[in-house]
Amino acid sequence: MTKFSKAVRAYEKLCRQADVPEETVMAYLVELSQRERYDLYANYEEEMPQDLETEFAAGMERILHQEPMAHVLGYSWFYGYKMIVNEDVLIPRVETEELCAEILKRMDRYFADCETIEAVDIGTGSGAIAITIAREEPKVHMRATDISTDALKTAVKNAEINGADISFVAGDMLEPLIEEGVKLDVLICNPPYIPEDEQMEKSVVDFEPHVALFGGTDGLYFYRRIFAGCRQLLKDKAFMAFEMGWNQREAMSRLVAETLPEAQYEILKDMNGKDRMLFVYFGLEGMEYSDEQE
Ligand code: SAM
Ligand code: GLN
Repeated sequence: MTKFSKAVRAYEKLCRQADVPEETVMAYLVELSQRERYDLYANYEEEMPQDLETEFAAGMERILHQEPMAHVLGYSWFYGYKMIVNEDVLIPRVETEELCAEILKRMDRYFADCETIEAVDIGTGSGAIAITIAREEPKVHMRATDISTDALKTAVKNAEINGADISFVAGDMLEPLIEEGVKLDVLICNPPYIPEDEQMEKSVVDFEPHVALFGGTDGLYFYRRIFAGCRQLLKDKAFMAFEMGWNQREAMSRLVAETLPEAQYEILKDMNGKDRMLFVYFGLEGMEYSDEQE
């Protein structure tokens, strides 16, 4: 039998040695024990129940080998919703929660008078964005696509457990939507945007699907494809929302200006002050452009 305090301290030390963030230890214990953090600290000198201790040790062993905590648990939290994750889907990131919040604000601002909002999440992965938007904006009619049918299986399950009504369709970028002839108010995409030769953490590159990560030599391959085809899909008044890489502002600005000269756009920073979100507006006037205010 081991006390909580002793086990946590021992694993925090091992994390430091293995270059794993030591906060992972408490975060994992909170999930595994289904107890609140303050409750664990309040009873820090108690013995751990044997089955918890065994499971905790086995999970920490995997985490110390750089396996993401979300894979060890089998789920992660996104915008307060529980999302099943596995090797077929990208683990949804906190930055993407911010993207969802910014999308919801703009849906309110631009489509307050509309009865329904036609939206799509392209490359939905776990379904995190589509599910959040569908649950948080009741007026939305949500579609979600992915080229990976394995990812879609997980997204379908996540939509079910979270009670989100979403039409899923497999296919390559805009193709299935163009075939179907949909007309959209909002197009959302967090595409793979990492340049192919970028060095990445082992926990990402060894455990997450490469089809979800890499976006050609400069990371902009999927944006180019969407910018080239989006006009066929969008209504006259519409916006597009993308996540992007922190170092893509200049290249992205050039690409939007060149390929969508009639549109207006802004690039927003995430909570770490990094360029992270791109919004592109068609036929929507009267907004403030944070890009030009900086
Ligand atoms: N939307 C999820 C999120 O934000 O957590 C996952 C985003 S992940 C960065 C990119 C997703 O795009 C992956 O699920 C991947 O399978 C999908 N994808 C890659 N190539 C695609 C393509 N040609 N057409 C459609 N989806 C694609
Ligand atoms: N933000 C993810 C990472 O850094 C990548 C997401 C993406 O390519 N869209 O691992």
